Amino acid sequence: MQKSKKNKFTIIGGPCAVESRFQVETTYRAIYKHIDVFRAGVWKGRTYPDSYSGYGDGALDWLMQLQSKYSKPVAVEVGTAKHVALALKHNINIVWIGARTTVNSFYVQEIAEALRGTEAELWVKNPIYADLNLWYGAINRMSQVGIKDIKAIHRGFFSENDLKYRNSPRWELVNIFRGFFPDIPVICDPSHISGKSNLLESLSIKAIEENMNGLMVEVHNNPKQARSD
Ligand code: PEP
Ligand code: MN
Repeated sequence: MQKSKKNKFTIIGGPCAVESRFQVETTYRAIYKHIDVFRAGVWKGRTYPDSYSGYGDGALDWLMQLQSKYSKPVAVEVGTAKHVALALKHNINIVWIGARTTVNSFYVQEIAEALRGTEAELWVKNPIYADLNLWYGAINRMSQVGIKDIKAIHRGFFSENDLKYRNSPRWELVNIFRGFFPDIPVICDPSHISGKSNLLESLSIKAIEENMNGLMVEVHNNPKQARSD
């Protein structure tokens, strides 16, 4: 299916969440020459209702303008069919589903239907808990509607016992996944595995040693003031 694409190492970078026009433009301009795709969370699914949940629809124009001015594609997280429609309307043709969405077959199916017949590229993050079937099922739902360009994102798995990482990498599970979907590129997301910037370098090196197909790293123009991650 995607043999040739698997040989390419994809670098994805950008903020967890869009917070302001200044923040997203400053970050984009600082990194766009060093990455393949700029990521930005426009809508953030949060555990608590008072946590920052992204700038929302208004950020899409900024992202669309940056993408067309600097010709570096932008990817956003989608959690509903409405998000998909808004992203596509703004010419954002790479979308991903987050770890909290991968677990929900209703939302996965709804998002798949919204992508049916489009040329969009889709990334599927592993589910929060180490149930690989949920990851496989979400990918199957997406391929069944005809999406050809699918990547998997390894963002680690919730663990009560891992004192080092926010989410355990569980590399052995990634290898099982790859045995199941040998043609789907797997991108490592060391930011959400580690939860700490001082572990990013060692995790990225490990990801390369594990023959991962790319890295997705969160980048902020002023990390200490970031409103999420
Ligand atoms: C994110 O990418 O900012 C995010 C919330 O990640 P995850 O869905 O992996 O928790
Ligand atoms: Mn994040």
